[in-house]
Amino acid sequence: MCQLSSQENEEFQHKIPKTDEEFDPSLFPELCDAHCHPHDDVKNLLKIAQLKTGFVTLMGVRQDDWDTVAKVATDCLNGKSQTKCIPSFGIHPWFSHFVTGNTDDANYNTPRDFYKHILASPHERELDEMIDALPDPVPYNTWYSNLRQHLLDHPNALVGEVGVDRSARLLPGGAIEWHNVKPTNVQTTIDHQLAIFNIQCQLARKLDRSISVHCVQGQGHLFDHLKAQSNQFSNRQLRKLKQEGKPIPNTLRLCLHSFGGAPATVKQFLELKGFEVYVSFSVCINARHTPAKKLLELIKAVPDDRLLIESDINKPDGLDICMMEISKIVAYAKGWTLKQTAETTKKNWKRFVNYNDETDRVPSS
Ligand SMILES: [Zn+2]
Repeated sequence: MCQLSSQENEEFQHKIPKTDEEFDPSLFPELCDAHCHPHDDVKNLLKIAQLKTGFVTLMGVRQDDWDTVAKVATDCLNGKSQTKCIPSFGIHPWFSHFVTGNTDDANYNTPRDFYKHILASPHERELDEMIDALPDPVPYNTWYSNLRQHLLDHPNALVGEVGVDRSARLLPGGAIEWHNVKPTNVQTTIDHQLAIFNIQCQLARKLDRSISVHCVQGQGHLFDHLKAQSNQFSNRQLRKLKQEGKPIPNTLRLCLHSFGGAPATVKQFLELKGFEVYVSFSVCINARHTPAKKLLELIKAVPDDRLLIESDINKPDGLDICMMEISKIVAYAKGWTLKQTAETTKKNWKRFVNYNDETDRVPSS
């Protein structure tokens, strides 16, 4: 999630080379934002339907915001000829400590036992204070059935935002708002983050939904985890399933959002069996954290048919500009015109979200 002011945003955009072609506003309806959070700005929800950007993929990050995402997606539908907002529901790694994994409820007698196991801090006292401040975790059965129900209620919904973050630290008192508060040293263990991530991947695969993945300082952990999942798609395993008359699991469409890993790792992710991997880039995160040269190399390293663009912005204001700017950067890196950039990334996005031109169109009456 990106929380840049528009001034900061502009500053970062200038650091990255981009095409000097003028952006024709008639391209806006072709732009597809593969990952964003404009619904965080709850006072301006109505502005989402009015965005110039053609399609937005709204990321839910914890149970508390799923209903807002659902409402915005439904409201956007009214009066439109096409689905503009694709809802996504997931537990973000920053909030994964609020929920238990599928074996935790049997393994731990009290919330304290659970938190002692899944949280870590170099300071014992800080950890104790955090545990005292946290609410009881939401049991696996509760959040899992809530997630499943949201996905069933919205047949076009994705699972996201999910993933791993090795840099994230809990805020004092277990707060969830990140504005101007110095984080503590308490972190959620990578094992717990991966356990919650895995549950959501399995559900997405089962329901044939795509996932949008956040990964900060955890590329190795994420890759190893996905590699283990991909083993069930080895030729030997597939032959075995066939012989036993068992169904072959769905391929999981996965987007590495605002990807900042090494260009060489893109290829490794793309080669994972049982996955269809897309990579998306934003001005908000990539132009701020990824050096210009590396960002251009990264964009070039992504095959043309797997490249997506996004804003990752947490308000509707500025979203269109972010989309226009990332289009210009991608056009420069790929040597494309802006029209080519918009058309190619739209085609890719439709494949990634499994956009159905028939069912995602409101019948005209
Ligand atoms: Zn995000």
